[in-house]
Amino acid sequence: MTYSYDDQNIFARILRGEIPNKTVMETEHTLAFHDIRPHAPQHVLVIPKGPYVNYDHFSATASAEEIVDFHRTAAAVCALLGVSPGKGGAGYRAIANSGPDSNQEVPHYHLHILGGRNLGALLPH
Ligand code: AMP
Repeated sequence: MTYSYDDQNIFARILRGEIPNKTVMETEHTLAFHDIRPHAPQHVLVIPKGPYVNYDHFSATASAEEIVDFHRTAAAVCALLGVSPGKGGAGYRAIANSGPDSNQEVPHYHLHILGGRNLGALLPH
């Protein structure tokens, strides 16, 4: 796998504390914070602290500990936001844009968790 990580990307700078963020939750390997331009009433980004470019890079090369921590944190964020259907919430969408066709903006892996309203169809046809 040939991915190179740009350590000047905005999420790398957030992780180094160079720019502020509205933290929702933080663990040893994972940070969750509010998206600066929310697309829904609830819009949180979950990112690993390690230098991973996108979903498949993270999933294929991160340690099992990082991957479990990431997904457990994402689940805890869903519960905290009150959107988890298993906990009485109305649901959410989890999106991981990866690469040019997805229009990924920030080259550090992030999972968008969106909710708080009906989000419509997955994609426009
Ligand atoms: P993507 O298009 O999947 O790469 O999404 C990048 C997301 O990062 C967008 O929804 C932006 O609004 C969000 N974003 C960019 N800069 C910041 C920032 N400083 N703090 C929080 N969210 C940000």
